[in-house]
Amino acid sequence: MADEAQQNSGMTRRAVLRVLGVSTGLAYLGALTGCGSLWERQPVIKVDAWHKGGCRFCGTGCGVMIGTTSGKVVDVKGDEEAHNRGRLCIKGLMNKEILYTQDRALYPMVRKNGELVRSSWDEAMGIVADRFRDTIAKHGPDSVAYYGSGQLYTQESYTANKLFKAGIGTNNVDGNPRLCMASAVTGYTTSFGKDEPPGCYEDIDHAECFFLTGSNTLECHPIIWERIQDRKRSHPNTKIIVVDPRRTFTARHADLHLPIYPGTDVSLYNSMIFEFIKNGFIDQDMVEHYVGFKEGEESRSFVDFKRHVAKYHPEQAAKTCGISPRDITEAAFLFASSKATMSLWTMGLNQQAQATASNRGVIAMHLLTGHFGRTGATPFSLTGQPNACGGVRDTGALSHALPNGRMVANPAHREEMEDLWKVPRGRISPKPGYHTMALFQAIGRGDVKCCLVMCTNPGQTLPNVLAYRKGMEDTFLVVADAFQTTETVKYADVFLPAAMWVEKEGVKGNAERRYHLYPKLVDPPGEARSDLAILVELAERLGHGELISARTPRDVWDEWRKISAHSAYNFEGITYERLQKERGILWPCPTETHPGTKRRYIPGQDPMAKGTGRFDFYGKPDRRATVWLDSQEAPLDPYTEEFPLILNTGRILEHWHTMTITGSVPELKNIHPDYLEIHPYDAHSRDIHDGDPVIVLSRRGEVEFRARVTDVVRPGMVFATMHSARHLINRATHDVFDPFSKQPAYKRCAVSVRRKNT
Ligand code: SF4
Repeated sequence: MADEAQQNSGMTRRAVLRVLGVSTGLAYLGALTGCGSLWERQPVIKVDAWHKGGCRFCGTGCGVMIGTTSGKVVDVKGDEEAHNRGRLCIKGLMNKEILYTQDRALYPMVRKNGELVRSSWDEAMGIVADRFRDTIAKHGPDSVAYYGSGQLYTQESYTANKLFKAGIGTNNVDGNPRLCMASAVTGYTTSFGKDEPPGCYEDIDHAECFFLTGSNTLECHPIIWERIQDRKRSHPNTKIIVVDPRRTFTARHADLHLPIYPGTDVSLYNSMIFEFIKNGFIDQDMVEHYVGFKEGEESRSFVDFKRHVAKYHPEQAAKTCGISPRDITEAAFLFASSKATMSLWTMGLNQQAQATASNRGVIAMHLLTGHFGRTGATPFSLTGQPNACGGVRDTGALSHALPNGRMVANPAHREEMEDLWKVPRGRISPKPGYHTMALFQAIGRGDVKCCLVMCTNPGQTLPNVLAYRKGMEDTFLVVADAFQTTETVKYADVFLPAAMWVEKEGVKGNAERRYHLYPKLVDPPGEARSDLAILVELAERLGHGELISARTPRDVWDEWRKISAHSAYNFEGITYERLQKERGILWPCPTETHPGTKRRYIPGQDPMAKGTGRFDFYGKPDRRATVWLDSQEAPLDPYTEEFPLILNTGRILEHWHTMTITGSVPELKNIHPDYLEIHPYDAHSRDIHDGDPVIVLSRRGEVEFRARVTDVVRPGMVFATMHSARHLINRATHDVFDPFSKQPAYKRCAVSVRRKNT
């Protein structure tokens, strides 16, 4: 239908997006897919009751009103009272459709004679528990692992973390947020001592300059983009700066676009800071009273810092970044001279070999110019998954972490959690577990022999993925998912069908620290169960039933919020009753009458901040934020004569992650994401024409795509979408990672491209 409508209209969906911008473009897509207009669509069938909830997809965490009739979800619409002001993007509008696709998993399966065959829950869970128990007895707790997801509910990630760390006794707990936002975590924690953004979405309504770096906001966070557009429409002098190697749909709406070479962010930000200093834009009070400077383990002075950034004169940095010096000076001027600047970023920054340094470079620009802690002035990382923040980061469900910002390596933090979890001192291992890439390497070596994977698809998402599939095949792999069609399930020994979205209840925390309740409204299909129910049964069968005594979403939440009271993430005041009534609440929120916290580290606004000064960076021992002296490093996968092009990867509006969900919805399935963008110069020299099949080859593997010849990419660069299992770009991507966050550098590797059969 979509294709037919496109032909009738004479325009492609891409052309519509380009010409109209996202809101009207989305309405057009809504019409194509039969969904009507975004804002005003009418239910076509009778709705018995409307319930408030949230979108299943991205970290924007849009509020959704869900219409039910006779135990089925029959309609969804944007929640007018939620922060998204009633708006939903095309994926949000498909929240109903995702429940009722043909691809939903219905029954447990176990592998027998090489085939997954239908099983009972009792048999499947018995096999899982026996294998985990025997392996732990024979090889110790570190021979098993859990690999989770930023899509699970907070109660589920919390329970898995507690079971494995305090029950089984291994820190081999990690998850897919390691692949998408671990570098934002290390950026915040090394700058402020605490994770999560200091500002909130409301800042968008007050900013006069937006610095969008490494974010195709229009396609990847469309409702955030709409809010930015609202600001621009009502205040036309608002400036939008976009830093992105491609001329994305977002970049086409920018006042200034800086198409830097991938991985040169550190040079750009240091150079902009050089300009701030040169032109007197530094907030001296901030420098004197609220920040300190560090290089590695050593403290440095502001004089040292000035000497450091002097190496990044715009004339010099422009050569590294592949842009003009004037672009840098103009960007610096717009950033610093506005009344309030807000930076937003996501994977373009986080998925780099120097991602932590890039994150703290942006944060440093805000601290040094005083664009911090004022309405509209804040650094703000956007999140790809709906509950990576509230579920995985806050609960500490990562290999090095413990709840609420505590660290495995810190003996006092371990003891505190052992007391709170009521387990004997010494129960939590002092050894950090395997982070994602190390985990799949350990699986490949046979050091980890059993792994429980929940709600994620590492068989497709890992960079250089072919190197890790054999390990997945050889290990005892248990996969719980709502879809049985994922690449990872191909390697599963046991498959457990999972409930999704409103088939189960839970809390999610979006990118602005907002905890929001997702109610259970309908029953899951077939024999599918919630991930919480699966974890509770596993705990019981492994003899940790007493530890995992909270077994309902409400009981787990109550246990978790009381634990938070012992930390700077205090949200004890976010009770279930409040969650049921309100449209989410931003933590910290220490009491039941506290309204939640929009901006952190400000005495009088943030309940954790002390004193009467402008700021209190309470996460740091000296209560000062840290500005780092980071240097630009040479790229790790250099281009050569054999691999002369730089590959960048990303996504499109209508699809999400590995298309497990969006690829099963007929209305979205027809929008094919598989193409390789190549500049006309590079295409011409290779005799490649638009639509030709091409082979992309890296030092790791090759992938076939259809060429899209376009000047959206610069000469010397190509871009491929990341969604498809058929055109699996992770055959080619590099598995190097940032040394601090351990997040892989998907955004840059050297490749060659040739027309197929040449
Ligand atoms: Fe859902 Fe994200 Fe779209 Fe909002 S922007 S409707 S949360 S996918």
